[in-house]
Amino acid sequence: MIDLHTHTTCSDGTDSPLALVKKAASSGITVLGVTDHDSTAGWQEAIDGLHGNLQLALGAEVSCLTTDGISVHMLGLLFDGNNHPLQQLLSDSRDTRIPRMRKMIENLQGAGYDISIEDVEASTPVGATIGRPHLADALVAKKIVSSRDEAFKELLHNDSPFYVSHFAPTPEDSIRAIRSAGGVAVIAHPFASRRGQTLTPESFAPLVDAGLNGIEVFHRDQSEDERKQLLVIAKALNLVVTGSSDYHGTGKLNQLGENTTAEAEWERLESMTDQRRVASR
Ligand code: AMP
Ligand code: ZN
Ligand code: FE
Ligand code: FE
Repeated sequence: MIDLHTHTTCSDGTDSPLALVKKAASSGITVLGVTDHDSTAGWQEAIDGLHGNLQLALGAEVSCLTTDGISVHMLGLLFDGNNHPLQQLLSDSRDTRIPRMRKMIENLQGAGYDISIEDVEASTPVGATIGRPHLADALVAKKIVSSRDEAFKELLHNDSPFYVSHFAPTPEDSIRAIRSAGGVAVIAHPFASRRGQTLTPESFAPLVDAGLNGIEVFHRDQSEDERKQLLVIAKALNLVVTGSSDYHGTGKLNQLGENTTAEAEWERLESMTDQRRVASR
């Protein structure tokens, strides 16, 4: 079972990298993607936890914004973790998440919610890429909402009056940075319409020109119809088709291995890196 998209406590997942690797191995996963938001901080702990036949496709899920302001998530896999321009791009993204979080908190305070940056820091694991799920956890801890899901539905969704965006590269720039670092770029859940505005079918060709390798088709946030449309696009543009859980531990309902990538698609994707970087024991 190949699951190429998961999160740990290095971003907004609730399992440590070590706990995730153990869980993956005991769940029958053969290739696990570790793709924290805008961070590679979990890579070493995941490698140190390797056992049995589990293989790791280390990566990151890069937050992007199109010039039209549409939020896009780009999975970078199997890139050189020491590539300076890519690490700089990730750290710029992480840095602007802090003032962005302060602004979202100010917006909530302005509407009378009793929440502070200290509350959110208390809900954020040390070294994690700070994001809305940590704000959600702080709102749960203060009994303002009862779950992450309720926090997003009521207060934190993309069209909410409290929402603020942060600096993010365009999808094209992030693809170029990932490819220049030797890795492969797979666009995550591009038609997940229930998350907000999505790309149009016409927006994929420029991404392919920038070096896009694949499309995440099988993902719980994409309907049967959205998956069908994506399969047509992937075929027309000769892109690799992936499926993955987007596992976040107890932070979301997504279960490890609930969607997977076919062996042949994985092999094709892996052959597109500049050198072999799959980690195994
Ligand atoms: P941010 O990167 O700070 O904009 O936050 C986006 C993150 O929030 C994504 O990783 C999603 O997985 C997470 N998210 C979005 N909607 C929900 C939800 N309803 N419940 C839990 N997490 C969510
Ligand atoms: Zn997340
Ligand atoms: Fe995502
Ligand atoms: Fe994700």
